[in-house]
Amino acid sequence: MTASWKTFQLSERAANLPASATLALAAKAGALRAEGKPVVNMTVGEPDFATPQNIVDAAFRAVAEGATRYTPTAGTPALRQAVADLCSKCHGINLEPENVVVTPGGKFALFSACQALLNPGDEVLIPAPYWVSYPRAVELAGGVARAIPTSIGQHYLLTAKELEANLTHKVKLLILNSPSNPTGAGYGRKGLEKLAEVLAAHPQVRVLWDDIYRRLVYDHFEYVSPATVSDLAERCLFLDGVSKTYAMTGWRIGWAIGPKEVIAAMTRIQGHATSNAAAVSQAAALEALTGPQDSVDHMLLEFTRRRSLIMKLFGGIRGVRFVPPDGAFYLFCDVSAILDEQGGTDEELADRILHEALVAAVPGTPFGAPGHLRFSFATSDENIEEAARRLKKMLGTASH
Ligand code: PMP
Ligand code: GLU
Repeated sequence: MTASWKTFQLSERAANLPASATLALAAKAGALRAEGKPVVNMTVGEPDFATPQNIVDAAFRAVAEGATRYTPTAGTPALRQAVADLCSKCHGINLEPENVVVTPGGKFALFSACQALLNPGDEVLIPAPYWVSYPRAVELAGGVARAIPTSIGQHYLLTAKELEANLTHKVKLLILNSPSNPTGAGYGRKGLEKLAEVLAAHPQVRVLWDDIYRRLVYDHFEYVSPATVSDLAERCLFLDGVSKTYAMTGWRIGWAIGPKEVIAAMTRIQGHATSNAAAVSQAAALEALTGPQDSVDHMLLEFTRRRSLIMKLFGGIRGVRFVPPDGAFYLFCDVSAILDEQGGTDEELADRILHEALVAAVPGTPFGAPGHLRFSFATSDENIEEAARRLKKMLGTASH
């Protein structure tokens, strides 16, 4: 007998909340594969490598040694110290463990930062294209997410002029992600300095700086820490994690770095929401940060090769334009020429590509950028080659 329930009235908050498009489309591609359809899945941003063996071994050891209980809410002292040490070095600032809260994934750091900082009606500026979860985390905290559209011509980076035009006294937070999901674009020093100059006249604005792709940058691009830019440094709350850099998406470890009172508030929220990140995962993350780093170099080399491959092959598909990514593992394609010719939306095109070419991508609309498709190249060369073959067959070959 199937269970039966009375109707439950959902909160407006939940009823109006769309699913995460990245996760939903990955699930859809997975379901089609389970039905036996040979779908090439380029949806989710998740390294296809196994977690490095030294990290897995450390987790086994930790469990054997008793890492099976609650940890302190903000994380184990060893991991907080390791994060503080690592981030002190990379940002050139002096961090203490009290500046760090370890969270169950970077996503929860985003969520609790919004809970800690936003009052109902507070505005948050988010340059679009943006990662799908930013506006939702803002709205779940009662904030108002205001997207600032950017274009391919400016490499999808926010300009000082656009920032200036969108700042009001209600704006409390600006979210920046460099290199970016979904575009791969990263801010250079000049760009950040110009944004900082604008912010100088708006002392109430803080910056949530998403560093999750900080280590995944390509040769031509130099990562610039906002902590080295005056008028930006003192305003940043950083979020990061081990998911992307160490192929540890399933372990769910992230963190936030910021002033002690904000970290303490996020810790209080976490104390009621999740208690702490999983003890075994924290032990694994400690090994990731303090153990050998050669696997990171190896993965980055692989991503570098795949980046060249996808740019070469996807550059040959008719109607597809993109900016070479500075970092992360996404090719964000402007497909407006295809839509102009064939009609329909990016979401419909993604659906057609999924069913006709058996290639799964995420449409631009949930990233706040209609007219685009995002392809993750955190997948094998064979998959990239096969996807390009199928897309050329369906959409045609570029004439240049
Ligand atoms: N920020 C961005 C831009 C991301 O793409 C992701 C990917 N999920 C995250 C944060 C959070 O990742 P996680 O929760 O796995 O740490
Ligand atoms: N951030 C990754 C992506 O954009 C993983 C899925 C998610 O958390 O959104 O595909």
